[in-house]
Amino acid sequence: MKILVIEDEDAIASRLERGLQGAGYVVERAADGEDALFRATEEDFAAIVLDLGLPVLDGLSLLRRLRAAGRATPVLVVSARGSWSERVEGIDAGADDYLGKPFRMEEVVARVRALVRRAHGHFHPVLSVHGIDLDTRTRTVTVDGGAVALTASEYRLLHLLMQNAGRVMSRQELADQLYAEHEERESNTLEVLIGRLRRKVGDEAIRTRRGQGYVIETESGQA
Ligand code: CA
Repeated sequence: MKILVIEDEDAIASRLERGLQGAGYVVERAADGEDALFRATEEDFAAIVLDLGLPVLDGLSLLRRLRAAGRATPVLVVSARGSWSERVEGIDAGADDYLGKPFRMEEVVARVRALVRRAHGHFHPVLSVHGIDLDTRTRTVTVDGGAVALTASEYRLLHLLMQNAGRVMSRQELADQLYAEHEERESNTLEVLIGRLRRKVGDEAIRTRRGQGYVIETESGQA
């Protein structure tokens, strides 16, 4: 997933870039407001980290124009302007979250992750549950921000379960959707596959419902 860091101070931009890369994101940088607005409008980013004091076009104006252009990309404002009225102004301009400078990188990452997660519904190309992000466009999976290498069949199984999160899927239903009809398979193939997937994405994500099948629970209470 790609994050756009809009920050004119090189040292801060580099720190944000390294921190977000470390969390498994692809990072692009923009240092002036006009260039940033163009890219944020033209390209798809999972989230934007936005400084307010920017050359050419300030962050708040950028944000208002981005929203006016119909772009709903989640925006985390990271700014030294810390008074409550400035925060309100930022949120009114279309920010989804606000963090003061100086910041802890861990907090930036956590807030970006929350924004990205909240922005995802089932209609979105990225499915997210229990810290697992599955990008259906790139067929990549991250767990808590870290990339996980899955085989094609592991990916298909995870995709199925995540797409149907909250619903128990029977072995038959899973097998029908995972394998071609003519494909020969051992009776325990699915169990073996589930076991391998659990080792990669975490034991607790995929639940066994005895006599019924498997389910990835939704995270109740979270949008
Ligand atoms: Ca600045």
